[in-house]
Amino acid sequence: MPKQKKKKAPNQEPTHSQVMRWAVEGVNGNIESQIKYTNYWKNAWNKYSYEPGSTMIHEKDYQPMNCCLCGKEMVSIHDTHNPAPLTPRTYAKEALEQNLPHRCCGECNATRVNPARTEGLPKGSVLIDMLEFPLTSVHVSQGKGFG
Ligand SMILES: [Zn+2]
Repeated sequence: MPKQKKKKAPNQEPTHSQVMRWAVEGVNGNIESQIKYTNYWKNAWNKYSYEPGSTMIHEKDYQPMNCCLCGKEMVSIHDTHNPAPLTPRTYAKEALEQNLPHRCCGECNATRVNPARTEGLPKGSVLIDMLEFPLTSVHVSQGKGFG
């Protein structure tokens, strides 16, 4: 892939189309795009964690916990997911502040939670974790409720 000629200012937010381009390139195996896409969402997550009413927590506030579905230790906030509908809906902030056990790992999210969530959605719908490459399909964002 050719390098971009213009460098973006460090604090400039990428456009939606840029982010979607990284997603598509990442799905097609472009490692650089995968990293950019993942970092974009991690930054967005951390930024959103400071907003009033946020259901997310900053990655530095995360206290490692075990997956409530398989027991695996989740070392990063970005490895944890809301397991609903398999458990009560639990966002990262609720789990931290109320000491709730209901968070699951990326693997359980992909293999157990997402299939449960796609039941009842139009045929062909695919849910994909925005923070987990490599993947083979197109991502469907969970919006601000993600986390
Ligand atoms: Zn798990």
